[in-house]
Amino acid sequence: KDEQQPLHILFLPFLVPGHLIPIGDMAALFAARGVKCTILTTPVNAAVIRPAVDRANDAALWSGHPAIDVAVVPFPDVGLPPGIESATALASEEDRGKFFNAIMRMREPFDQFVAEHRPDAVVSDGFYTWSVDAAADHGVPRLVFLGTSAFARSCTDSTVRNNPVGACADEDPDAVVPLPGLPHRVEMRRSQMLDPKKRPDHWAFFQAMNAADQSSYGEVINSFHELEPEYAEHYREALGRRAWLVGPVALASKDVAARGAAPGALSPDADGVLRWLDAKPDGSVAYVSFGTLSSFSPAEMRELARGLDLSGMSFVWVIGGGAANDTDTDASAEWMPEGFADLISPRGDRGFTIRGWAPQMLILNHPAVGVFLTHCGWNSTLEAVSAGVPMVTWPRYADQFYNEKLIVEVLKVGVGVGSREYASNLEDRRVIGGEVIAAAIGTVMGDGKDGEAMRRKARELGVKARGAPEKGGSSYDEVGRLMDALMDRRRPAGSSVHE
Ligand code: UDP
Repeated sequence: KDEQQPLHILFLPFLVPGHLIPIGDMAALFAARGVKCTILTTPVNAAVIRPAVDRANDAALWSGHPAIDVAVVPFPDVGLPPGIESATALASEEDRGKFFNAIMRMREPFDQFVAEHRPDAVVSDGFYTWSVDAAADHGVPRLVFLGTSAFARSCTDSTVRNNPVGACADEDPDAVVPLPGLPHRVEMRRSQMLDPKKRPDHWAFFQAMNAADQSSYGEVINSFHELEPEYAEHYREALGRRAWLVGPVALASKDVAARGAAPGALSPDADGVLRWLDAKPDGSVAYVSFGTLSSFSPAEMRELARGLDLSGMSFVWVIGGGAANDTDTDASAEWMPEGFADLISPRGDRGFTIRGWAPQMLILNHPAVGVFLTHCGWNSTLEAVSAGVPMVTWPRYADQFYNEKLIVEVLKVGVGVGSREYASNLEDRRVIGGEVIAAAIGTVMGDGKDGEAMRRKARELGVKARGAPEKGGSSYDEVGRLMDALMDRRRPAGSSVHE
């Protein structure tokens, strides 16, 4: 290929907001550096990603960088109910099975696109294990994107290699399970990890993903070197993975108001909450949100409400998993403690609840927000880090328990509420009491030296996070190095995919 032609990267995002949003941001980031980007996705998901793409393309008009394209593929029809193109919409195990079959069939449009356009690289979500062979068939390097940290990637690798749950003879859910071979001593509780015996299907999938990652050209990670230098090095050197840390990618969206919201899905409260925050003193508000997929039992909701009340802080609480149309609005009768409704706007002034899509980046960056009660989804975690906000951690599943370790034990910018169960099984979950939640908030926000140190560390990390993607910052340089590596492959000597 002509070296004067801009690089072209094809992005293949997984169909959930937590993976789509950072891919849209990443495309904007690469486009701003002169890379032509195409995002291949389905109609419903294209609508989610479109606002970020349109904004990046508006910016391109005056700065002259290449535009981002969205290539929309019809979603393979395998008898799924209409509109089920996102893992967020999958209620039953049966739908989930059909959905995963359907995404396997995205290989066909992928093959067509790659054959026709010959991109320089494919950034594939790790969930699409089929894209390893597909990319190799076309001689195109596959870069993996998993939407998590180098720390969590290292923990996952240790888990898949060593099966520490399988090796642990103690069946007690609270048994300590150490993850071998990491730079720090990382100890999980048995109940915080996927049990390969109970979910052999999920375990097999993790193994397949890890194998696919290992046989890929490399990995793009939404993180930055200063955040986790030992793990960035461990991942590259001890584990021999090629990885580029290019984040925080959220900082690529300059206008973040409706980031990630499908058209019309931004909550009607979105403006109201910012005005409400304007009237609050700096650092006086707890922001409470658990991403787009986590669900809570009524008993958990009740204790959380009690905890917020007991904490004495003001709070903004996003209820209903950021879902655009939360039909259970009035299921609140099931869990709301007496008197709680009087605390929240419009009746009271202590709290503000949002149903629907919240402008999370704007809220986290508002000076009134002092602490973030989070499920430790990686996007939320990194957004809090970027905003310099310390956290109270309440992980539920996937990489969230690893992210909690990073926040609480490695970075020391948060306190956990003691979440113990990796599960979607609400019945098995121990309910965490309101007193415990209030105490964790109190530790982060109180006058004690721990809270003071956490808040200072969070502010310092925020400065580093915001510097990383700027010209001369570590992530800026990593993007440059990745672009150089891809450009080198255009020269005849570098034409092999598996170097
Ligand atoms: N988000 C948002 N408004 C909402 C809910 C979520 O902007 O009401 C964004 C949030 O800022 C983050 C993403 O959605 O970028 C959620 O990703 P995360 O990894 O935190 O959690 P997941 O939803 O994948 O569990």
